[in-house]
Amino acid sequence: MLEFLALPAFQDNYIWLILDPQRQEAAVVDPGDAVPVITWLGRHPEYQLRHVLVTHHHRDHTGGLATLKAATDCRIWGPKAETIAGLDRQLNDGDSISILGQTLQVYAVPGHTLGHIAFYCDDPEEPWLLSGDTLFAGGCGRLFEGTAEQMHASLERLRALPDATSVYCAHEYTQANLRFAHAVEPDNSDIRVRLEVVDDLRAAGRITLPTSIALEKRTNPFLRSDVPAVVAAAAAQQGEPVSGGVATFAAIRAWKDRF
Ligand code: ZN
Ligand code: FE
Repeated sequence: MLEFLALPAFQDNYIWLILDPQRQEAAVVDPGDAVPVITWLGRHPEYQLRHVLVTHHHRDHTGGLATLKAATDCRIWGPKAETIAGLDRQLNDGDSISILGQTLQVYAVPGHTLGHIAFYCDDPEEPWLLSGDTLFAGGCGRLFEGTAEQMHASLERLRALPDATSVYCAHEYTQANLRFAHAVEPDNSDIRVRLEVVDDLRAAGRITLPTSIALEKRTNPFLRSDVPAVVAAAAAQQGEPVSGGVATFAAIRAWKDRF
C-alpha cells in the first residue's frame, strides 16, 4: 500500500511524496524545490528516492530536478512535448510506466501548457491521479499556452475517470476556487458545504487535498459546463447566450481570471 505525503513549497505548491513502505522506496512529483525533498530524505535515511515525475515545464514544478539528480540516483520522467532539462525518459500520451510496484498511465492534458501530462493509476480498489496544474480542487489551471477547447477536452478526459479516483494536484488553491464556484452556482449546496469545510481546514492551516473525481463532478464549475445553472451563469457574465460545453467553459475560465 502506498502512502502520499504533501511537502509544502513556495507560497502554495505541494510536492507530493509517494512512499512504498514495504520496499522503502519513494517517488516525488513536480519538485519545484529540492530542499523539502532532500530534507525529508535526510530524516528518513531508510528510504531511497527512485523516481521523479514531472507534469509540465513551469519552474515551480521543475526547479529542483538538477539538485535531486545530483543528490540521489532517481530517474526523472516527464513530457516529451516540452523542453525540460534532465529528463531520463520522455513520455507521450498512452505510455505506461512502472513505479513503486504500480503501473501509471500517461495522459496528455494540454491547456495550462501545451505538453502537460497527468499520471493515472487504475488500482481497482484505490485509483489515483496526479493532475499537476490541470485539474485543481474546485478549479483548473490557467490557459497559459493552450486553448479553451484543448483544456475542456483534457478535463473531460479526467472527468471520465472512476468517481473513487483520488486526485493529487500541485497547488493549494481550493479555498479561492470554491469561492468562485459559489459565485457561479450560489444555489449548489455541495459547493456551499465544501467551502465551509475548506474554510475550517485553512483556518487551522491544514491541507485540503487530495480531492476525488466524485467531489469535483459535484463542485468544480470547470467540470460542470453542461449543467444548466453553469451555462446560465456563463451567459449572464458574457451578456449573451453561450452554446456548448467549450463556449461555457471558456466563459467561466475568463470570468475566473478576473474574479
Ligand atoms: Zn504551472
Ligand atoms: Fe504550478
